[in-house]
Amino acid sequence: MKSFSGLERLVPDYIKNFEAYIPSKPDDELKKLYGCSRLYRLNNNENPLGPPETARRVLEAFEPARASLYPSGDCYHLRSKLADIFGMHPDQFLAGNGANEVIAFVIKAFCQQGDNIITADKTFAVYEWVARFSGFEARLIPLVNYGFDADGMLERIDERTRIVFICNPNNPTGSWWDQAALRSFLDRIEGRCIVVVDEAYREFVEDPEFPDSMKLIADYPNLVVFRTFSKMYGLAGLRIGYLAAGNEVVDIIRRTCVVYSVNTMAQAAALTALDDTGHVARTREVVKTGKRFLLKELDLMGLPFVNGEGNFVMVRLPISDSLAYRKLMTRGVMVRAMTGFRFPNWIRITVSHMEALEAFVDAWSKIQREGRDFQALSKTLCQLRSV
Ligand SMILES: *Cc1c(COP(=O)(O)O)cnc(C)c1O
Repeated sequence: MKSFSGLERLVPDYIKNFEAYIPSKPDDELKKLYGCSRLYRLNNNENPLGPPETARRVLEAFEPARASLYPSGDCYHLRSKLADIFGMHPDQFLAGNGANEVIAFVIKAFCQQGDNIITADKTFAVYEWVARFSGFEARLIPLVNYGFDADGMLERIDERTRIVFICNPNNPTGSWWDQAALRSFLDRIEGRCIVVVDEAYREFVEDPEFPDSMKLIADYPNLVVFRTFSKMYGLAGLRIGYLAAGNEVVDIIRRTCVVYSVNTMAQAAALTALDDTGHVARTREVVKTGKRFLLKELDLMGLPFVNGEGNFVMVRLPISDSLAYRKLMTRGVMVRAMTGFRFPNWIRITVSHMEALEAFVDAWSKIQREGRDFQALSKTLCQLRSV
């Protein structure tokens, strides 16, 4: 291929300094690479139950001819349904190609050159990434006790701060702000910037003290709430998420939306997923059972962990997370290595069904045993050598 000698000049510095995210390979490739016959994915916090029955039926009955038609450009029916559910107006909702896309909508809508956003250092990284590869500063405030630090963030806000991103519950630590904490933060912000509360795991939380953020929108016109169908509703592969906010803020954000980014199947599945009343309870039960088992086994294996809300648990390992990732992969278990989240030597495990969790526990026990055998062997070798 011919080299592009003028390329350098065309690339902004903030792109030059940015490294592309490398997604994991498809399962068939990974199985070949690591020599395992089956693979348990515990890396993406997916729902092991899959989509609700109601959504499955819609997907099965999907008429192929509809694929030739553009989808509803503004997710008309989905927004009406969300408005009914939350007692709001359909115009207060904007759907995107996953919550990931609505992150970009909000940043594009409010940031210009010289502006900054604020979030935590150890949280979902996409807020930081979109800001940085769009040329904006991302101010990362260290977590305190694994949770978002309200005082720390307030201290760093200046006149160029446009958005504060709070992940509630936080991925990966599971920490969360209750209603009082969120209200107090919003009061202290006094409308100086947009406050995004990313509630990707909201549906997993049963505690009544968890904020009713949709209601808070009426009191705080600078509040934006994110939700997704990828986690609880098991539709990650169809890519659909949404934001909710006051009318004035949504009117601004809507200007940056790419029309037709949410496909027809995703819209139809999401719409019906909300009808399945048993799905949320069943999933919570799976997570509860899975966590009980996993936490007990982690204790037995002597692995420290951070367990909060959400369908995941963060675990500290005695070896590097990338080495652990590879060792687990050869045994058919895929976890999230946490160096990318600034938690080196930690992994995040999705609380999936028992079979998958047992596979993890089994794999890790064997890895630990091998490690001990190896240590014992090297010790013996040293002793032999010194004789
Ligand atoms: C998974 C996740 C998302 C992204 O969800 P998509 O709708 O699949 O793009 C957003 N925020 C957090 C915290 C997540 O964990």
